[in-house]
Amino acid sequence: MNITDSSAVRPCTSCQMCAAVCPHEAISIQLDDDGFYRPRVDEARCVDCNLCTKVCYRFDPAPRRTATSDLEKIPLLAATAQDKTLLDETTSGGIADLLARELIAEGYTCIGVRYADEDCRAEHVIAKTAEECTAFRGSKYIQAYSLPAFRHLVNHCREERFAVFGTPCQIYAIARFLELRRLRDRCVLVDLFCHGCPSLHVWTKYSQEVKQLIHKPHFDRVDFRSKVKGWGYFYVVVVVVDGIKAFISSPRKDEFYTLFFSDQVLNEACSTCIARSTLSYADIRLGDFWGRKYATDMQGVSAVAAVTRKGQELMETIRPALSRCDRQEWETFLPWQSYGRDYHPDHTLRRTMLDLLKTPSVPLRSAVKAFYRHQTMPQRLKRFAKQMLFYFPPKWVAIIKSRIG
Ligand SMILES: Cc1cc2nc3c(=O)[nH]c(=O)nc-3n(C[C@H](O)[C@H](O)[C@H](O)COP(=O)(O)OP(=O)(O)OC[C@H]3O[C@@H](n4cnc5c(N)ncnc54)[C@H](O)[C@@H]3O)c2cc1C
Repeated sequence: MNITDSSAVRPCTSCQMCAAVCPHEAISIQLDDDGFYRPRVDEARCVDCNLCTKVCYRFDPAPRRTATSDLEKIPLLAATAQDKTLLDETTSGGIADLLARELIAEGYTCIGVRYADEDCRAEHVIAKTAEECTAFRGSKYIQAYSLPAFRHLVNHCREERFAVFGTPCQIYAIARFLELRRLRDRCVLVDLFCHGCPSLHVWTKYSQEVKQLIHKPHFDRVDFRSKVKGWGYFYVVVVVVDGIKAFISSPRKDEFYTLFFSDQVLNEACSTCIARSTLSYADIRLGDFWGRKYATDMQGVSAVAAVTRKGQELMETIRPALSRCDRQEWETFLPWQSYGRDYHPDHTLRRTMLDLLKTPSVPLRSAVKAFYRHQTMPQRLKRFAKQMLFYFPPKWVAIIKSRIG
């Protein structure tokens, strides 16, 4: 039995741990036609050891769920780093970076995600120094290519202590592998409150179109969600070339985020992801503290679920570097998140959009138009109202958000 077995009970999350754990390197990871990473098995090399299915979410009959009563026992913190430069370069309160640096100082090898423009992708890489962790700053809202870094963890987890930052589905699979090896206590796992990952064709097309627009063959840096207009303005993508901001997307009509939040072209597994809606695998989960409470904050506030004792100790250790660290109630935060929610994409529309996205000659806006055409009148009115909001100054928008949520 291997990862291709028909007894799977769920769709593939694209986490890539199946390939990383394979002792015979019989599994490779390839992009499928729709732009999602999938395992491919070389049957000639496979010895049916079954290890790939043992760490896989698709074959798990009962992933551990966090009961609401247990959730209340997990400290939820609203936290912000003191360092202003760090806040400028990170997505919410800069906590991931402080944790990574602390973990490096404690002797852990960190695995986090950087953006690699030469391959037009995000990828997990190994960091052994604080300096190397700088590339992890900022969320890249696409599925990372993770196989080499995860394989390094699998091969070295007995002699090295690892701290891994990743999406809930990736952290789920790593936790299961470490539990199988009885090494879970040696590692620190940090995951994210996660909306999901869109087809990689969305980002590929977006970046190609921006490169054409600004007449540049490459980006030096991409801020998938810059704070140039404040923390709440997450429709802004800034691309830096030769030290200058060469492109800032309009928050009113950013095509990448329109498709990201359409929920129509996310990985199939994202629609019903259980890993997103449980806190049973990570030591810490990080997110944006959306909701009314911090809506007028322009620098960024992280939501930190300090799940395990190790997670709580780490938060205590980095506390001197924080300008804010307030314990908050879950109900001030959770209603603004995808935690506990399923998405219901329209299957015909999804197919149409994915077909448009995979056709090289078709521009990204065609998929956006297909989505808009499918919207009902109330949805169109809501979209129009949101777009109008962006004509107001950022501070006003923040105040309106703090009133209406
Ligand atoms: C695909 C995706 C969806 C998300 N959805 C939500 C959401 O719905 N709600 C919410 O509150 N927060 C969401 N987040 C998390 C949020 O964007 C911030 O990462 C989080 O608030 C931590 O911010 P920070 O300032 O502490 O760290 P940042 O400086 O923003 O650091 C980000 C950390 O995440 C890691 N990372 C970056 N990109 C990826 C990636 N593609 N895959 C795996 N790990 C990555 C980096 O290694 C780094 O450790 C999402 C993140 C991603 C990558």
